[in-house]
Amino acid sequence: MTLTPTKFDTLLVANRGEIACRVMRTARRMGLKTVAVYSDADASARHVRDADEAVRLGPAAARESYLNVDAVIEAAQRTGTGAIHPGYGFLSENGTFVKALEQAGITFVGPPASAIAAMGDKSAAKARMANAGVPLVPGYHGDDQDDALLRSEADKIGYPVMLKASAGGGGKGMRVVESGEGFKAALDGCRRESKAAFGDDRMLIEKYLVQPRHVEVQVFCDRYGNGVYLFERDCSVQRRHQKVIEEAPAPGMTPELRAAMGDAAVRAAKEIGYVGAGTVEFLLDADGSFYFMEMNTRLQVEHPVTEMITGQDLVEWQLRVAMGEPLPCRQEELTITGHSFEARLYAEDPEQDFLPATGLLSRFALDLEGAGLGADQVRLDSGVESGDTVSMHYDPMLAKLIVHGVDRDAALATLNRALAALDVQGVVTNRAFLQRLANHPGFKNVELDTRFIERNEATLF
Ligand code: ADP
Repeated sequence: MTLTPTKFDTLLVANRGEIACRVMRTARRMGLKTVAVYSDADASARHVRDADEAVRLGPAAARESYLNVDAVIEAAQRTGTGAIHPGYGFLSENGTFVKALEQAGITFVGPPASAIAAMGDKSAAKARMANAGVPLVPGYHGDDQDDALLRSEADKIGYPVMLKASAGGGGKGMRVVESGEGFKAALDGCRRESKAAFGDDRMLIEKYLVQPRHVEVQVFCDRYGNGVYLFERDCSVQRRHQKVIEEAPAPGMTPELRAAMGDAAVRAAKEIGYVGAGTVEFLLDADGSFYFMEMNTRLQVEHPVTEMITGQDLVEWQLRVAMGEPLPCRQEELTITGHSFEARLYAEDPEQDFLPATGLLSRFALDLEGAGLGADQVRLDSGVESGDTVSMHYDPMLAKLIVHGVDRDAALATLNRALAALDVQGVVTNRAFLQRLANHPGFKNVELDTRFIERNEATLF
């Protein structure tokens, strides 16, 4: 059970990089004292400089620092911290961590452990969603894992099918099977991969949608049973199942489809007693059918595009809900203004199969004035500044460039200008790749589906 919420005046952010800086920015604006935590590799990182106080967790390796539950709780206790924001990744969807916080009397800025657990297993989550009347991709997600049974289920669904690890995440343990002949080999391969990555080799089978879009709905719930959706994001532009450019709203949505997806997402959240910010991911087929994929029980990397079109600060909502306040507004009060894109800037080399890059960032600057852009059009969420060193220890995402325009074309033009105005020196990044994407005629014409990059390889690389 969650504790009775109490007001807190100190917030510890158990993360690093751009998200730690972004969360602290809102916390400061709300008058909270901020505490950063860091590993030895991050002793002078930007999130440490930004915080009122900082506590060392341990050595560079994430499991000894940012994933170290005891060290994070000790840091909170030592600094008299009332609440912990986990950011995304690291401990953000770790039920053991959330339970430990509940026991220590520290508020977790996120959902209860029970809601994380309900969505942590893809098969179990799908069963719950079917109960709540949320549409699912036709498929099998039962407990019986007998080879012959799985094969006959795949035959029934009809090929191509997708095999997915029940315990999976991050695009691992997934395989497309084109026909019955290839089924057994794919099943064996997937099980091996899943066992190695997640210590669990249960599989689910889904109809493989050939050209779906990835459209996800931002939801928010408070502790009093209220839930709203803050519309959707299109995250179809992916490389190896990882998002590269996201946008909101999703192009081509009718008001009816938007409401249907929004309602389904809120139903999904309420079914599991959700509290806080969550994202319900759907696959959207060309005929307008949509299917639940999974729910991410945290703030997403791409949350800023939602903030840009709604004018809401999602971190502020998270903190208010964690303090026990009701949702700041009702569904009818939320509206969409204009269009927003986010491009993820990675320290990686597209010329070398996106190998992560490291080094001294001798210059990292965005010349808005020179590009003739206003501060209301462009937002740079960054975890680094000129003079910082980029190490190989963590996720290579350096920053996110977020833009807003009156419509999709205007926002896309702004994205192109902003990408050109970004001056990064000393570390190789994917900036030129992002520019090729943002300038691509197919992208401009909304020829979106999850294989956009794969399909356009010839013109993108
Ligand atoms: P993970 O949790 O590992 O990220 P997801 O289930 O969220 O895995 O799927 C990741 C991506 O794989 C989706 O964004 C989509 O591009 C693709 N995908 C997943 N399921 C299907 C499906 N049934 N048909 C087609 N593509 C799919």
